[in-house]
Amino acid sequence: MKLYLVIPCYNEEEVLPETAARLKEKMTALMESGKISSDSRIVFVNDGSKDRTWELIQKLHIENPLYRGICLSRNRGHQNALLAGLMTVREECDAVISLDADLQDDINAIDAMVDKYLEGYDVVYGVRSSRKKDTFFKRTTAQGFYKVMRAMGVETVYNHADYRLMSSRALEGLSKFQEVNLFLRGIVPLVGFRSTTVSYERGERFAGESKYPLKKMLAFAFEGITSLSIKPIRMIAALGALIFCVSIGMLIYSIARRIGGNTVDGWASLAVSIWALGGIQLLAIGVIGEYIGKIYLETKARPTFLVQEYLKDEEAE
Ligand code: UDP
Ligand code: MG
Repeated sequence: MKLYLVIPCYNEEEVLPETAARLKEKMTALMESGKISSDSRIVFVNDGSKDRTWELIQKLHIENPLYRGICLSRNRGHQNALLAGLMTVREECDAVISLDADLQDDINAIDAMVDKYLEGYDVVYGVRSSRKKDTFFKRTTAQGFYKVMRAMGVETVYNHADYRLMSSRALEGLSKFQEVNLFLRGIVPLVGFRSTTVSYERGERFAGESKYPLKKMLAFAFEGITSLSIKPIRMIAALGALIFCVSIGMLIYSIARRIGGNTVDGWASLAVSIWALGGIQLLAIGVIGEYIGKIYLETKARPTFLVQEYLKDEEAE
């Protein structure tokens, strides 16, 4: 099989030489064992780096054809850079593994991923078995992230980042998703096909700093929810219904107080209308939102199906 590695790089001059060397070693070992063909490649995607990342990639490419480089016109963010790489190479190879430039994701899991591909799987998710090496902060925020995503109705693979193998067939399916708001982790499960997981231990970034500060992480989580789920809209509608129910309770309560005779004139009607109107308004917003949610899903123009296999007699053509 012809395997390509796709690695988005943003200001990674500190890690790139080491990463390139380690990946080369891994690829050579795999080639020697005969699992992957000798025309497999390592493709670096330069995501508009401001340092010498691109020069380093160019140098690597000249020294050894094993390395390839794709340079984006400007910084577009991790997800877009990754997609750019995947879409550029998808027709040239049998499968692609995407990973980060800092090699926090154990590259020894590549062997297992390739084995799974050879067994016939189209998507192999790399799943972190432990996060001991991550800081307490990163660990809790990241785990909270997966839980919130699930609660918001986004189907993701738990503890899976963007370290995964995808066959060219799965990539072709992915290419049919024309989303501009990109959250690959949520879209790949939607692509489907036979998939499985491989677990590994997540290591430390060996040089340089994280390109995902808290601000970017929050933006990423928000992006994930709003680009995949219309559950928040439904929650507004549910809240409206709830408040409306409370207003009925208030109505009964006010009537009771009124009959008891110890209320100020006009209090009952005011109290009930505040609750009822608030509830109806929220409910109405929720209903309108439901339609906006539909419009939003339509504008994504996602494929309604992808064919995995079609059994037919060849003669009939
Ligand atoms: N990255 C990118 N564009 C960006 C930010 C990050 O291509 O705008 C790349 C980065 O070079 C790395 C990967 O995305 O290969 C993951 O980034 P990082 O390791 O900093 O994230 P963390 O591991 O801290 O979540
Ligand atoms: Mg990292």
